[in-house]
Amino acid sequence: MRIVVKVGTSTLTHSTGRLNIRRVEELCKVLSDIKNAGHEIVLVSSGAIGMGVGKLKLRERPQDMPSKQAAAAVGQCELMYVYDKLFSEYNHTAAQILLTGEDMRDEARHRNFANTMLRLLHWGAIPVINENDTVATDEIAVGDNDTLSALVAVSVKADLLVLLSDINGLYTADPHTHKDALLIDEVRELTPELLSAAGGSGSALGTGGMATKLSAARLCMEAGTDMMILNGAQPAILYGVMDGAKIGTRFIGRC
Ligand code: GLU
Repeated sequence: MRIVVKVGTSTLTHSTGRLNIRRVEELCKVLSDIKNAGHEIVLVSSGAIGMGVGKLKLRERPQDMPSKQAAAAVGQCELMYVYDKLFSEYNHTAAQILLTGEDMRDEARHRNFANTMLRLLHWGAIPVINENDTVATDEIAVGDNDTLSALVAVSVKADLLVLLSDINGLYTADPHTHKDALLIDEVRELTPELLSAAGGSGSALGTGGMATKLSAARLCMEAGTDMMILNGAQPAILYGVMDGAKIGTRFIGRC
């Protein structure tokens, strides 16, 4: 299987913005093991701005563009240092790819990206992708990594996109405010009711939320790619995905 795994800032970092070492170590170990079992792995990782905030000891996530871009420059560097170090421990090779919305929209740039990805996968590397936050202004950005990971999954014709989040999946209502909200285990169609059940952005350090996850699901489903939302608190949950366990929410791609 070719699997794209997207991990969000709230999964990778503590609320301080500093790295959640135990979690990232477990994530790299599990992904390495799944790769050893013969699968291809692409990692879409957020965390550049969040980790930059932590490393620079800023009191909160900045709002202005130059500060966000500068924080991302610091955080992306630390992020790749960590992935390179941890994947190397399991004898795997990480490769950094930074993208903007323009790279996805422009035909020639998109083709170059897809060709590079296929070559990296052929060589057995683990592409680690993020938005190129140091140059991506609002006009040219994809804007969030849920959407970016769906565009990547469709581009490389992945079998599955897994969004590792701080929530167990899609619920019938916001589970933080509705105690009776139920987890939806399978979605075959994005109905207006489902779309209205999705709220806004989730954490102080990341950008995504259920709304961006559902637009990612739409992109995947239309292209015939399955997508799952899972809780990334314990990355070993990915073994369950490989074993076909009924966990999280699975969006079924149209064939
Ligand atoms: N590219 C952003 C970062 O690395 C995150 C975007 C997102 O969380 O959706 O900080």
